[in-house]
Amino acid sequence: MNNELIEKGYRRYVGNKIDVYFNTNICQHSGNCVRGNHAIFNLSRKPWIVPDNATLEEVKRVIDTCPSGALQYQEK
Ligand code: SF4
Repeated sequence: MNNELIEKGYRRYVGNKIDVYFNTNICQHSGNCVRGNHAIFNLSRKPWIVPDNATLEEVKRVIDTCPSGALQYQEK
């Protein structure tokens, strides 16, 4: 768990190889995440982020397209 991100208001979405962190207050709603991979990021599902629905590399690739920093990840 990345306590620094939690203290900044991020929520954690747990995966086997990688955790994804999201901060709704920072999100600019560009939609890059959901367009980038709908299996990982799906706003009509709870939880809306499922890191295990793609490979580790794919999770990192999509998160690297987030323009705001609202999405972060931590490999295990
Ligand atoms: S890519 Fe980042 S800024 Fe854009 S909608 Fe997703 S989380 Fe928000």
